Amino acid sequence: MPASVALASSVSSDDLAAARETLARVWGHDDFRGLQADVVSEIMAGRDVLAVLPTGGGKSVCYQIPAMLRPGLGLVVSPLIALMTDQVEALKQQGVAAARLDSGVSMDERSDIWRQARAGELDLLYVSPEGLAAGAMLDRLAELPLSLIAIDEAHCVSQWGHDFRPDYRNLGRLAEMFPGVPRIAVTATADARTRDDILRSLRLEGARVFVDSFARPNLQLSAVRKENGSRARTDATVIELVRARRGKSGVVYCGSRDGCERVADALKDAGTNAIAYHAGMDARQRDRLLGRFLAEDGAVMVATIAFGMGVDKADVRFVIHADPPGSLEAYWQEIGRAGRDGEPAEGITLYGPSDIAWTLRRLEGRPMAEEVKAVQTRKARQLFAMLDGATCRPQAVRRYFGEVSAGPCGVCDVCADPPALYDATVQAQKALAAVQRLGGRFGRTRVIDHLLGKTKDVQPWESDLSTWGIGKDTSPGGWRDIVDHLLFEGLLLEDANDGKPLVGLGEAEAVRAVYRGERAIEVRRVPAGFDAATRSGNPRRRTREGNAAVEALDVDVRARFEMLRAWRRDRAAEQ
Ligand code: ADP
Ligand code: MG
Ligand code: ZN
Repeated sequence: MPASVALASSVSSDDLAAARETLARVWGHDDFRGLQADVVSEIMAGRDVLAVLPTGGGKSVCYQIPAMLRPGLGLVVSPLIALMTDQVEALKQQGVAAARLDSGVSMDERSDIWRQARAGELDLLYVSPEGLAAGAMLDRLAELPLSLIAIDEAHCVSQWGHDFRPDYRNLGRLAEMFPGVPRIAVTATADARTRDDILRSLRLEGARVFVDSFARPNLQLSAVRKENGSRARTDATVIELVRARRGKSGVVYCGSRDGCERVADALKDAGTNAIAYHAGMDARQRDRLLGRFLAEDGAVMVATIAFGMGVDKADVRFVIHADPPGSLEAYWQEIGRAGRDGEPAEGITLYGPSDIAWTLRRLEGRPMAEEVKAVQTRKARQLFAMLDGATCRPQAVRRYFGEVSAGPCGVCDVCADPPALYDATVQAQKALAAVQRLGGRFGRTRVIDHLLGKTKDVQPWESDLSTWGIGKDTSPGGWRDIVDHLLFEGLLLEDANDGKPLVGLGEAEAVRAVYRGERAIEVRRVPAGFDAATRSGNPRRRTREGNAAVEALDVDVRARFEMLRAWRRDRAAEQ
């Protein structure tokens, strides 16, 4: 490969300029961020790289752009068909010559792809590690000039990683088979041990290693639970928060365009230099508003997620979420827009139980594959669990991203004022048992009434359930806190479709762990009506009712309803 050898000595600024131009033209991004430019430079210069960059940090373009600019075919090894399909479809839509070879591709398509590859018409070819291991593919690749070999999700090579894939082990062979072809391994999740393992297994001993941390030590993060479903109260909280930071520049994220306009108006009335910004405005108008935000002192952008990408304002002092984002990744990205100058800045997120239902309803309405929806739903839940949890905020997020060694930040709301936690494991067991007994056919209020044994016009079968009235030791308000927390944790699920959502059980294994007392449930405030004995201490302790709940777990709910119905019919017949 004479062309790549010629490039190998050092990277020219022309290469980086061409890479930037491609990034702007094909992806529409203003500039590289984080370590991208360094990684791209290394690959353009023909050297091997291991890049550990945050999730959402933009690892793909690190190999896609050099593959487009260097002569030859860029080979990308990717562990999941879903990932491959997503990336290849996106690339094609952007006009990039990309293809994938996986089990879903027909023989005809295959031969067409190989024809294109031989004709030099392809810039990127995505393959699975299993496909490569089969051998025939390697023979065909050996005849082609390769621009680079990229190994995505490279942590799969390591048994220490969380997604070990045996076929990744074989990828080390590529080093001998394609000498002189630069190889790049990328991952978001690799501690030091995993990194060493990746380097050794992939025979990347000479590679330069780039590791970007997720830490943002100048950010002071906090989460505030919305008091109830009332918009007016939430708006008032946001206004109070912004007014207390008067004169500082900030961003307020809202979940909808309407909300955005409403909050911006309220802030203006309160004497703040607020600017509403969302995708309902045309591009010229948005440019003008962005210009104001950048130029004016103490401007507060009140925006939907349409705002942010590519906005580079160093002195944003706060980001407030009037509504929470959809995932921990989005959360980190959005609060990350504060304090780019390295000076202290704040991220404050408001969240409430109705936000979960809203988030899920919105997901439900989106046209996407069921698997994708399932992943998005899980991600949303992880965010809510973090927000309602009692772990240092940055620590929780960085661990989620795989920075396993991340310690407490020392400045977030949890670190600064560790919340008193109350062991609500027994109450959680009762609530889960009640939902199970009720067969997931009632909403939150009815579940709580059932626990309290006070449902009006109660069905005869309901007061016969063993969970009827087992929650009299806790007040209605206490139960609302606990049920909300179980929703945040995903132990209870709220049906997203309906105006009156029904509450059902969450993932069976997680629910069982609570029943068995293996997972303690801690809530952040004293549920009213808790007595001193319930505070903290031993999560394994169970009440008689708790035990009854555990035994009840194996009862098939539907069978039980059938039984009850039969019993009611019999009684009706007797009378
Ligand atoms: P990951 O590192 O998680 O694989 P991706 O490569 O999927 O991340 O990129 C995540 C998102 O970031 C994509 O939408 C991508 O277009 C965007 N992105 C990548 N590079 C940049 C950049 N320099 N500026 C702005 N957005 C970028
Ligand atoms: Mg990726
Ligand atoms: Zn902290």
